[in-house]
Amino acid sequence: MAHPLVFDRYLAPAPAGQAFARRVHHPWMDRRPVPLADPDGRYAALLRADGDPRLAYVHVPFCANHCLFCGFYRNRTDDAAMRRYVDHLVREIAADAARPGVSARPVSAVFLGGGTPSALSAEDLHRVLAALRDHLPLAPDCEVTVEGRVAGFDADKIDACLDAGANRFSIGIQSFDTRLRRRMGRKAAREEAEAFLSALAARGRAAVICDLIYGLPGQTDAIWRDDVATCDRLGLDGVDLYCLSLQPGSPLALSIEKGALPPAGDEPCNLGRYRDGCDTLAAAGWTRLSQAHWGRTPRERNRYNRLTKRGADCLAFGAGAGGMLGGHRFMNDGDVAAYEARVALGEKPIAAMLAPAARHAARGAVMDALERGSLDFAELDAAVEPGFAAALAPLFAEWRRRGLAEAGAAALALTAEGRYWYNTLAAALFELIDAYLDGAVPPAMPPHGGARPRHPGAHPPASHPGDSHARHP
Ligand code: SF4
Repeated sequence: MAHPLVFDRYLAPAPAGQAFARRVHHPWMDRRPVPLADPDGRYAALLRADGDPRLAYVHVPFCANHCLFCGFYRNRTDDAAMRRYVDHLVREIAADAARPGVSARPVSAVFLGGGTPSALSAEDLHRVLAALRDHLPLAPDCEVTVEGRVAGFDADKIDACLDAGANRFSIGIQSFDTRLRRRMGRKAAREEAEAFLSALAARGRAAVICDLIYGLPGQTDAIWRDDVATCDRLGLDGVDLYCLSLQPGSPLALSIEKGALPPAGDEPCNLGRYRDGCDTLAAAGWTRLSQAHWGRTPRERNRYNRLTKRGADCLAFGAGAGGMLGGHRFMNDGDVAAYEARVALGEKPIAAMLAPAARHAARGAVMDALERGSLDFAELDAAVEPGFAAALAPLFAEWRRRGLAEAGAAALALTAEGRYWYNTLAAALFELIDAYLDGAVPPAMPPHGGARPRHPGAHPPASHPGDSHARHP
């Protein structure tokens, strides 16, 4: 039964020049932890469930150095430790693949992320990718992405990835400006980064993607425009435009507080950069594939990122890797030694599992629509309940008044500003779905004010599917 909706909290005034007081970063993060009674049994049951093709995420929690903006640094690279880690990773993949239910559903996309996967040796990169290919039911057109950074990703490693089936590289760039890069902990200078990406794209054997961050301390409009224009000039297949997330207490936040670095971009600055980047790419013929992601060639499918946002099932391997099964988010033990010990015992090293969010599929449909930038009213009604889109008319009118959307007869199209605030819009819709279907009262903290639950770096928790995989080593 539909319940009446109250919109007061969504109509609260915002600071001048911006649509909301704060941005929500993880609208999915409202789930109850499931007590870890028999997690292995629960995991086994979830694996046996029918459904669509799955995804697979592999986590490599090693980095050559701790980038200033990043809160996901875990372990320093160490050749012996990484080799031992890959031994366990391969063992975990093989053990999972033998469980009932795994072979029944194809894997349509694989993402090797971190940390810094490209820090592994060529041999270990090949071993991990070969294990995925040998043990998991990869679809014939499976998207296989390897994340990397410029420094240390040599030709032997790239060949090893390609020979083992990688068909997409996602390279962490953040900015091409050498001074800015060095300040953030990036070793390679502009010339090296450009040469690396050009050479990788020129091989023509894989889609080449890079990510850029706006809002970095000391970044000017001119630097940002040059960064976006450089992606276009280098002939890449895709690019992500991410907003810096500055977490209180992070090394970057502390450096800014101490005055060692200039302030990060504020919301008006960041919105301007996002809009500018979108305009530049659109004018150059790029296609917007999601809120933050753009493709230039058909080779860029963005499949893994798109499906994780929908809450698709995702297998997960490695210390700290996060997966999703039937709406249950789970995470492996993040401590490498503990992870290896459990894998050696033949256990699936799950450390935590969260109950599915209410109406997981409806939320996934909403996120997918917002990622695409268009809320189709019929799709919204189909995902929630007939009449829901019409009941949201006051909210949609307010979004239009704030410049977040433009109305059509059958859909609401988000403007660039709406896409910039899309997680905040999603959080509001999630609450209103529950209010409409259950009469649930939204939580006390309004979505437009209060503390900012931001995570450091432009990327989401490094090992959670569904968080856009703006992970960039
Ligand atoms: S940005 Fe990437 S390479 Fe840098 S510390 Fe974070 S995970 Fe490691």
